[in-house]
Amino acid sequence: MTDPVDSTLSTVVIGAGQAGFEVCAKLRELGMTGPITLIGSEQHAPYQRPPLSKAYLLGKMELARLFLRPLPFYDDMDITLKLGCDCVAIDREAKTVVLGDGTRVGYDRLVLATGASPIQLPDAIGGGLGRVHCMRSLADADALATRFVPGQHALIIGGGYIGLEAAAVGAALGMKVTLVEASTRILKRVAATETARYFRDLHKSHGVDIREGVTVMRLTGDTSVTGAELSDGSVLDVDVVVVGIGVRPNIDLAKAAGLEIENGIKVDAACITSDPAILAVGDCASFPHAGGRIRLESVGNAIDQARAAAEAITGAQTQYTVKPWFWSDQYDVKLQIVGLSQGYDRVVARACDDGRASYWYYAADQLIAVDAMNDPRAYMVAKRLIDNGKSVDPNLVSDPNVDVRSLLQRVRMDGFHAALLH
Ligand code: NAP
Repeated sequence: MTDPVDSTLSTVVIGAGQAGFEVCAKLRELGMTGPITLIGSEQHAPYQRPPLSKAYLLGKMELARLFLRPLPFYDDMDITLKLGCDCVAIDREAKTVVLGDGTRVGYDRLVLATGASPIQLPDAIGGGLGRVHCMRSLADADALATRFVPGQHALIIGGGYIGLEAAAVGAALGMKVTLVEASTRILKRVAATETARYFRDLHKSHGVDIREGVTVMRLTGDTSVTGAELSDGSVLDVDVVVVGIGVRPNIDLAKAAGLEIENGIKVDAACITSDPAILAVGDCASFPHAGGRIRLESVGNAIDQARAAAEAITGAQTQYTVKPWFWSDQYDVKLQIVGLSQGYDRVVARACDDGRASYWYYAADQLIAVDAMNDPRAYMVAKRLIDNGKSVDPNLVSDPNVDVRSLLQRVRMDGFHAALLH
């Protein structure tokens, strides 16, 4: 249902990442004809971030392929790009945003797509030394690429996806790689022990030294890092450090403007903040989910939520429902994830002789997420099941002789599932 909205309304979008780009493109697709301004602090037109820590860092993807659209697209769509431009304040009463150079841009609708920033290693333990890098932006990837030199020693701090993907690139380039993870195991925040074991083994087979339950006490060096003291008592000579210890949502602008914050900029199911003229999308936004609230750091969410926000701007009665999916490339393994594994009480393994593997997460007999390694078929089946709220008998899942595609039919036929579906 759509309440008629004046299609000539003006929209300002702050944040020229995937989510910000997607809002603008979708608004035009939906027939909005008013001015659209996309403001980004980086000098680059909107680009994809996922390849930065994978193919791009490895030197297997050229810069031009990173951009979401070539520059003429923005002219063609009459989208004003303001790049290299910081937005420093929102004047909600005047419905204007204030830029770093004092310019003001008026809006009828404002969308915050401000993303998230990497958590830095404190200066007090050497986080400010040269050759200590984060991995979030194109500039980060370019800077790091010059330091990823065969034979040199990379210390990776953090065993989440950033750390593991950087470790894979370093090892593939012929570097010596050590990865330290403060938690008892890698991927603890996002995946089960089984998936962590799969990737630990994979990295070890490529010579990466993974140390879990270990932190960096201090990075050493005069101006640039040359060494590291670890909590396991070891002292390493290092040439470059990658810090992948998580991100924080960029909420300062919203907070200063008096918008409600709750683990991110608080929005309703239509992506609208506590100010009806302002919406928020992507990594910076926390939205209603399963009776609570969630904030997701993923491309899939950025795209889908941005499209929902654009629809809401056109007056549609939007109810954004997240259908989470993620992926990671490490060496010759493609990991595809569907669903959210939080709250699982059982993990069922499905291994095939040819190296394909998947782990199926259940909560109270309901399938809630799947991690599939080099098994796109299992991923597609799982995605259809999970997106439709269906489950499937774990005994069938774990049997490699059962064709994974047949699970889609078994949902309804099986007595076990008949019970689940009620
Ligand atoms: P992350 O998923 O939060 O992982 C960071 C890891 O570093 C955590 O396991 C954390 O342990 C650990 N850690 C924290 N402080 C540490 C310290 N001082 N020493 C050693 N380990 C420490 O974050 P990320 O890997 O930096 O990635 C940032 C965001 O980008 C995440 O949302 C991530 O999912 C996303 N991303 C996704 C992909 C993908 O989907 N393929 C790829 C790259 C990035 P604790 O949990 O105990 O703090």
